[in-house]
Amino acid sequence: MGADGGSIPGRRDLVKTRGKAATTGKAVARERFFYCALSKKRLAKPVVADPLGKLYNKDAVIEYLLDKNAYGDGEQICPYISGVKDLLTLNAQPNPDEGESKAPFVCWLSLKEMNGAVPFIALRHCGCVFADGALRAVLPNLAKTGETAEGPAEAACPNCTKAFDPTSAAAVLPIYPAEEVQEELLADLLAARAAAKANKKRKSGKDKEKKEDKGDRVTKVAKLKNDRSASGSPAPANSSLAPSVRAQLAEQEKRRLAAQAGMSDAVKAMFHKGDTGKKGDVADFFGRTYNRYATS
Ligand SMILES: [Zn+2]
Repeated sequence: MGADGGSIPGRRDLVKTRGKAATTGKAVARERFFYCALSKKRLAKPVVADPLGKLYNKDAVIEYLLDKNAYGDGEQICPYISGVKDLLTLNAQPNPDEGESKAPFVCWLSLKEMNGAVPFIALRHCGCVFADGALRAVLPNLAKTGETAEGPAEAACPNCTKAFDPTSAAAVLPIYPAEEVQEELLADLLAARAAAKANKKRKSGKDKEKKEDKGDRVTKVAKLKNDRSASGSPAPANSSLAPSVRAQLAEQEKRRLAAQAGMSDAVKAMFHKGDTGKKGDVADFFGRTYNRYATS
């Protein structure tokens, strides 16, 4: 067959090999629209899309969420799925043309098969699935993934008639978009999560501040009482307060200082965690995901 050092490969051998590789790539791209990314079973309702536009049978993702080892390569396929809230349940039209070789779903408008030949998108607000071109033909001001669009901010889904804002950057979720788009979608997801976390931290920080304020006030009142007693009599500080109250105040002050120290430690730990963080994981995840498709 050549290329093994024993013979010189002819043009036909090379062309044959290249043809085979191209078909394999195409078959893999096609398979993604036929089979659940986790269970590798044929896609059947209820079907969900993850934040990167990958497709699953819902029961398989639930199983994965309950047991991360339910599918051997689960942690390499969708480590970024943290809960059901990350999933979009799709309203896809089953292919009236049944059969193993036929795509499970078709576009609501054009009836084109969702088999990877043309790009497909889902509307995030209702989950209806369309061929990108067919939907944009009836909704010309529909935003592209991650971009906003100009025009009226209200439209109806041409399938289920539910109203939504077509100009919003989050209006559509592309199904199995190109790698670069998947990377953008993952970056968006991680950024949104980080923002939500920071927001939560800020809120709990405010609560702590409030508590500290209260603590301060108690100490100030105590101090005021001390001053008064100091000026009014030669008795030692705090003597005007009952011993039990004094002990209570001392305990409170101790707790306040401990809380302060504890908080700064927690903040330090957070920054350390951030340093070793997500970026490497992301790169690693992408490497593995795409390797898997390239080699299977
Ligand atoms: Zn709809």
